[in-house]
Amino acid sequence: MNSLTPNVIIDPPTTLICKIAVVGSGPGGAITACLLAEAGENVLLIEEGSFWPLESCEPFSPAEMIQKYRHGGLTAAFGKPKIQYVEGCCVGGGSEINSALYHRTPAEILERWRRDFAVDGLTEKDLLPHFTACETAVQVCSLPGKAPIASLKLHEGATRLGWESLEVPRWFQYQAQTDGTTSPQGTRQSMTKTFIPRALAAGCQLLTNTRIHRISQQGKQWLLKGEFTGSDQPRKLIEISAENLFICCGAIQTPALLRRSGITHNIGNSLQVHPTVKIIAQFPEAVNSLDMGVPVHQVKEFSPEFSLGCSISSPPYLAVAMTDHPQYRSIIHDSWENMAVYYAMITGEGQGTVRNLPIYRDPWVQYPLTQSDLELLSKALKKLAMALFEAGATYLYPSITKTQRLMHSGKVDQISIDQIPTVLPPDRTNLMTVHLFSSCPMGENQQYCATDSFGKVHGFDHLYIADASLLCTAPGVNPQGSIMAIARRNALKFLGRL
Ligand SMILES: Cc1cc2nc3c(=O)[nH]c(=O)nc-3n(C[C@H](O)[C@H](O)[C@H](O)COP(=O)(O)OP(=O)(O)OC[C@H]3O[C@@H](n4cnc5c(N)ncnc54)[C@H](O)[C@@H]3O)c2cc1C
Repeated sequence: MNSLTPNVIIDPPTTLICKIAVVGSGPGGAITACLLAEAGENVLLIEEGSFWPLESCEPFSPAEMIQKYRHGGLTAAFGKPKIQYVEGCCVGGGSEINSALYHRTPAEILERWRRDFAVDGLTEKDLLPHFTACETAVQVCSLPGKAPIASLKLHEGATRLGWESLEVPRWFQYQAQTDGTTSPQGTRQSMTKTFIPRALAAGCQLLTNTRIHRISQQGKQWLLKGEFTGSDQPRKLIEISAENLFICCGAIQTPALLRRSGITHNIGNSLQVHPTVKIIAQFPEAVNSLDMGVPVHQVKEFSPEFSLGCSISSPPYLAVAMTDHPQYRSIIHDSWENMAVYYAMITGEGQGTVRNLPIYRDPWVQYPLTQSDLELLSKALKKLAMALFEAGATYLYPSITKTQRLMHSGKVDQISIDQIPTVLPPDRTNLMTVHLFSSCPMGENQQYCATDSFGKVHGFDHLYIADASLLCTAPGVNPQGSIMAIARRNALKFLGRL
């Protein structure tokens, strides 16, 4: 499939009419558009970014950041400390650039959402058919061979300490079974590989390079005003008229678009993320290689409070992670094969806001961490350091500036680990996240919720949200599994087929 596929609109007219408009083509939007089109509805899927085939660049490369990330990944939520976050901006959204690690929503999280937000129809049993259908569609599976050594190192260290550590399944189509000695290669089953081709085959039309600026109600229709910026076409303003409108722009851009349009009740007041702190571990032996692939192990012993894992660790990623320790930068050049990046990711209690500022195109995102978030980050970082030392790491470089590297000198080097402050210093800690949600929570509790239990915006007819914004709180696990299942459930509810 490419941008020449019939149903991809190359040169749009300035006005378009459809029955259902879906804005944003990440997992939420792609699944919504696909199911509605397959049910015979007239659907137009609108995406701000370009249509790049999955293979258009190396996964996790600088070229991918330029092509498919919003602002090349240089986006931050303000607070103390700032949290650098990343959003996809291309057909398929975040599914085109992510690590494809899959979890179902944990049962205790669903229970909390039902209890605190009064979400109907959200038991494990209710969601089961949606989990299984999405798992089949995107081919969720375990690695058919050996995991990367760096990933196994964390697993080894955690297991020796008696902690629960598991291999996380991925949405991936692997090449033929390997002999078990090398990491298997394959293709991420992103939205451009799965739900978007299905949607187009079912007659959905796709309008790319079009950012929707505002929406408004004109009688029984929704009017969308946007701008088309195709590279070999003149820029043009576009108006789209739709009977039903689904906003699926992700947890930052959905509240930003709704607020720009004057829709503000419980919109953009409760953003949550998984604040994440990183550490580089250096081992005496090689743990990294240019074809290392995606690490798959996560330590779940302390979940839902926090999880530990291994990140993409190619030399450019190691170099970025080492910016907190400039005096050791040359070690990456000499010893990158012995090094890998690890993370500790918390389910914090902070809540952020998404607001628009006059004149500026991008929203202003704030995310204040609480004192207990900073304590929990420290606790998680210490546990990560323990597991890595237990696995044989000799040096650890935490993402805290003006701090010493930690050195292994005993079995588990408690003295060295105690160098990590019990509250991470807000002015010196570098945090990031790739998990954003909860900015427009769903549920019948109108004190907190932006939409009803199935994504219909409270107080508005024919207006829905279907993306990460709906998750009532941080799920404590990689979120795309939850987003996909909830999008499927809500699309079937809209069709009266639940
Ligand atoms: C680097 C990275 C790694 C990740 N790893 C994992 C992982 O391993 N497992 C996991 O479960 N999750 C992972 N995630 C998170 C996951 O990708 C996201 O949670 C998911 O993509 C969110 O889906 P969504 O539909 O809410 O929004 P998005 O995927 O963000 O899609 C929203 C789309 O809307 C478009 N859009 C925004 N505003 C407008 C507008 N005004 N007009 C038109 N279009 C607009 C955007 O361009 C974008 O394409 C990762 C994310 C990143 C960035």
